[in-house]
Amino acid sequence: MKVLVLNCGSSSVKYQLIETSLEQIEANADVVIAKGSVDRIGTGSAVHTFQPAGRAKVTESGEILEHREALTQIVRMLTHAEKGVIASPGEIDAVGHRVVHGGEKFTASALATPEAIAAVEACVPLAPLHNPPNLRGYEAAKRILPDVPHALVFDTAYHQTMPPVSYLYGLPYVLYSRHKIRRYGFHGTSHRFVGWRSRQLLGRPREETRLVTCHLGNGASVCAIDHGRSVDTSMGFTPLEGLLMGTRSGDLDASVVFHVMHEEDLTEHQVTTMLNKHSGLFGLSGVSNDMRELLAEEAKGHERAKLAIDLFCYRLRKYVAAYAGAMGGVDAVIFTGGIGENSPAIRSRSLAGLEFMGLEVDEAKNAAAIGTEADVSAAGARVKTLVIPTNEELIIARDTVRLVAGAENP
Ligand code: ADP
Repeated sequence: MKVLVLNCGSSSVKYQLIETSLEQIEANADVVIAKGSVDRIGTGSAVHTFQPAGRAKVTESGEILEHREALTQIVRMLTHAEKGVIASPGEIDAVGHRVVHGGEKFTASALATPEAIAAVEACVPLAPLHNPPNLRGYEAAKRILPDVPHALVFDTAYHQTMPPVSYLYGLPYVLYSRHKIRRYGFHGTSHRFVGWRSRQLLGRPREETRLVTCHLGNGASVCAIDHGRSVDTSMGFTPLEGLLMGTRSGDLDASVVFHVMHEEDLTEHQVTTMLNKHSGLFGLSGVSNDMRELLAEEAKGHERAKLAIDLFCYRLRKYVAAYAGAMGGVDAVIFTGGIGENSPAIRSRSLAGLEFMGLEVDEAKNAAAIGTEADVSAAGARVKTLVIPTNEELIIARDTVRLVAGAENP
C-alpha cells in the first residue's frame, strides 16, 4: 500500500510517499518512494524540494498561497511524467497526517472520521499554533484525495499512558477538571519509534525493558518508557517545559514570568515570544540556537557558548538520572534528533558523571556514530547507550496501514 505521509506546519508541508503493508512492517521492509517539502507557503517565493529515491533532487520555486495549492503541487510532482514516481493520484492508497495535539481524547492514532476531526478541532485551544495548520493540511488533502482513507497520528497520544503523578501539576485540581491543565508531552511518535527500534536491537521484549529516550533537536524532550509505555516525559502542557532547547527556556519557576513582565514592562505576547523564541541555547549564548555553531564557537573560546552547552548537557543528565529513578532502573539510554544523532560530544558530555548508574560510553564507538544506528556503550557497561536516527514518517505510514487494515496498533 502506498501511503502519503503529510506534516503540515503554518508555512510548510513536509511529505513522504512510503510503500508499506502489514507484511512489510513485520519484515521491517517498508520502502520510501519519494520525499519532499514545500516551504515558505503564503509567499511569492515558495520552494518545493522533491527527492525521488535513487534519483536527482528537483527544486522548484514560485507562488504558493496556501496549503491546498501546496498539496496540488505535491500530487502533480508525484505523478509528473518524467520527474514523478507514480502514474496517477489513484496509486495513493491512503494519507497519514501528523497532528500535534490530541488532548486526552486520543490515546492512539485514529482514522479521520468527522467525529475525530471535530475532536482535533476541540483541541485547538491547547495547541493554537499547531493544530490549525494540521487541520488545514487535512482539509486540503481530503479535497484532493477524497476517496482514500486518511489517518491522524498525534504527537501527544503516546504519552497518554503517563500516570497522574507524572501528568498533573501541583496546582488546584479544579484547573485540571475544568480546563484540562496537565502535562501532555510531545515528540511521542519519535519516542515511540526509537523505543520500538531499541527493543529490536537489544533483542528484549517490551515487558523487560526500561528505556530513557532523548530526542534532541531544535525542540528537545526526554521520555521514560517502561514496558513499552511512556510513563513520564519532559515537555508538559506545551513544548516549553523540560530540557533547555534551541530557543525555548525549558523548566522555569513560573514567578519569573510575572517578575520579568513587571520589571521590563512586557506584554503577555512579548514574554511568550521571549520564552519560546529568544531563550534556550540562543538566549544564553547570545550566538545561535544551532548546536553545531555553538560547538564551533566554544572551540574558539566563546565563554557563553560553552555555558549554554554545559547547561544543556547538565539538564539532560539530571533528566536521565531522574527518569531512571522514576522507573526504578534503566536498561538503555537512547539518543535521537539532530543533536542526539549527530553529536558525539553532546552525548558523552551529557552522560559524564552517570557511571555510578552503569552508564559508560565507548569514546571511539561514540565518535564514529554520526547519523547512524549504533551501540556506543563501553564493553561491560550495565546500561546500554544507543544512537537511533528517528523516523516519525515511518510510524505515521505504519499506523495508517494498520488502521486501514483494522489491525491493532502496538
Ligand atoms: P528539529 O527539531 O527542527 O527537527 P533537528 O532534529 O533537525 O531539529 O535538529 C536540529 C539541531 O541538530 C540543531 O541544533 C543542529 O545544530 C543540530 N545538529 C545537526 N547536526 C549536528 C552535528 N553534526 N553536531 C551537533 N549538532 C548537530
